Amino acid sequence: LGGVELMKNDFINGYAHELRTPISSINGFAEMLLKQGASLGEEEKRTYLEIIASESRRLADLAGNSLLLSKLDSQKIIADKKPYSLDEQLRRCSILLSEQWTQKGIDFEMSLDAAQYTGDQDLMQHLWLNLMGNAVKYTPKGGSISVTLKNEPSSLTVVVADTGKGIAKEDLGKIFDKYYQTDKSHSKQGLGLGLSISKRIVELCGGEISVKSALGEGSSFKVVLPK
Ligand code: ADP
Repeated sequence: LGGVELMKNDFINGYAHELRTPISSINGFAEMLLKQGASLGEEEKRTYLEIIASESRRLADLAGNSLLLSKLDSQKIIADKKPYSLDEQLRRCSILLSEQWTQKGIDFEMSLDAAQYTGDQDLMQHLWLNLMGNAVKYTPKGGSISVTLKNEPSSLTVVVADTGKGIAKEDLGKIFDKYYQTDKSHSKQGLGLGLSISKRIVELCGGEISVKSALGEGSSFKVVLPK
């Protein structure tokens, strides 16, 4: 019971920490608009409102992802399984992210075997969007990303590789932990929950997720799913 209490406190502390920054910036900019609204220019007002909108979106994402993770943590199996085309799903995910990678001038390549997979399509889409979204987020302008799907006799292997900033050796073991981010100064770009959600989804599928990365050279995330 002592252990459970400690874990609960840890979780609440972590959560409170995540909530504090966006809440104080929403509060700060809203108060500024209230107190100095009359003397602010249109452009300034717009900037403050944009910050309020994006920070509140971040809070909603945090709540949504936390709820999803706690649901997945207590779940033992994937209930809603149906056969579908995995290569088509991967292509759709890259299209969903295309605005972000074209804006950064990223070269996005795909090499996909045709493959049917039986699983929960929504959850699997979440997994691929997390991995591809991270690749786009952590790859600078002009870099490249490749997604490959190999259809093997007893498994399907998906690799999402990028030429981005890479991950230091000492961080590699921790990136799948809840709320872990290698660089807190970039915490505005995410919440540190994506990879823990991804890992849990792969576990529920009976598969494995692994990462190879070198700082400054890029990262490669591999998901192996049993057929
Ligand atoms: P976040 O919301 O911060 O992206 P994730 O759980 O998805 O959270 O990832 C955890 C951390 O792992 C990130 O903060 C980042 O430091 C690192 N990371 C994940 N994917 C990549 C990648 N493709 N390249 C470099 N670093 C990555």
